[in-house]
Amino acid sequence: MSESCDQACSSCGEECEDRKVDFSEQPHELSRIKKVIGVISGKGGVGKSMVTSILAVTMKRKGYNTAILDADITGPSIPRAFGINEKARTTELGLFPISSKTGIEIMSINLLLEKDTDPVIWRGPIIANTVKQFWTDVIWGDVDYMFVDMPPGTGDVPLTVFQSLPVDGIIIVTSPQELVSMIVAKAVKMAEMMIIPVIGLVENMSYFQCPDCANKHQLFGDSRIEEVAKQHGIDVMAKMPIDTSLAGACDKGLIELFDNNWLDHIAEFLELEVDLEENLKENGEEQMKIAVASDNGLVSGHFGHCESFMIYDTVDGKVIKTEAVPNPGHKPGFLPVFLNDKGVNVIISGGMGGGAVDIFNEKNIEVITGAQGKAADLVNSYLLGELKSTGSVCHEHQHHDECGE
Ligand code: ADP
Repeated sequence: MSESCDQACSSCGEECEDRKVDFSEQPHELSRIKKVIGVISGKGGVGKSMVTSILAVTMKRKGYNTAILDADITGPSIPRAFGINEKARTTELGLFPISSKTGIEIMSINLLLEKDTDPVIWRGPIIANTVKQFWTDVIWGDVDYMFVDMPPGTGDVPLTVFQSLPVDGIIIVTSPQELVSMIVAKAVKMAEMMIIPVIGLVENMSYFQCPDCANKHQLFGDSRIEEVAKQHGIDVMAKMPIDTSLAGACDKGLIELFDNNWLDHIAEFLELEVDLEENLKENGEEQMKIAVASDNGLVSGHFGHCESFMIYDTVDGKVIKTEAVPNPGHKPGFLPVFLNDKGVNVIISGGMGGGAVDIFNEKNIEVITGAQGKAADLVNSYLLGELKSTGSVCHEHQHHDECGE
């Protein structure tokens, strides 16, 4: 870091090891989006777009304002499933999504390309940038649930997309033909890195129900999905059959008319989540914000030098929202004020300098030092009253101002 550093990384081109970059993007000023749900898969062709479409249709049928952001730029299949052939309109204000037959707002690269059949042969950064623009430049209006059909896989492109959109939860779609355990492990790891909760798994093409005898046949052999889900402590939220009339409805652009209840369980879960959040906010007795100085999901040993602050909004002892705020830099005395401005009531760290502890105390912010382990686990222990501060204060160690002195 140069002597003249003023910690304003976003307006500075210098590559230094202290650089803190926030990839998150703000939506268009005319968009108000309550929940963003990402739908991911290990590879293309397993039915990720199908699950995204059916989820959106299910939530729309329940009366919610629903949208689909088709981030699968190289394999966009959402417009076809909804029978959308017109092109999106651009004005000086921004880009308008196309409304489906039942009023689901949709944006996809196919609504911008001259011909649907034009291949998109762009490199990763351009693809990721296009998705960012679908978030920042599209006038979505009021949306209760936005479903994001993610680029397939767990590589660079989906990762960048995750970093730029405020995804509240992800649904992992698998099919029995895949190496399910490896795919789920990778997807769960990516979600952990991004600190996004996994809502659950959907096994698509799970079985075929014989129209004559009504028996269910597992065409690809016995499913291992329950076992894999258990290993990762997540739920199998739905199993969808191979259904030729479903594929037919998609081909004809009539997915909205296709009757099914396969994803109702997920829809109920999403409804409950929002209700719970709103109810608790309105009626909750005790609200608290807990910040954990973190490095890659683990509590940091050095408060001032942590990568980010994981901020947990809690109501009546339950976490209702998690947010990762990149560390804006460690000017003396700055971070306690910064966290106070964010409404934080408790700060958890490994080590912390005495100067920072004093400022937190002055601001009536509880300080827990000496913590070790996963940020989320520490917050749960704190809420159960089981996390106590060791009171350890960094005095004169080598990293000096790293602990917020
Ligand atoms: P992805 O988004 O993972 O690339 P899609 O959702 O586009 O996959 O599905 C790939 C193809 O498989 C599509 O033609 C779709 O209609 C078909 N398909 C997906 N799920 C099913 C299903 N459960 N039954 C029948 N066909 C399906």
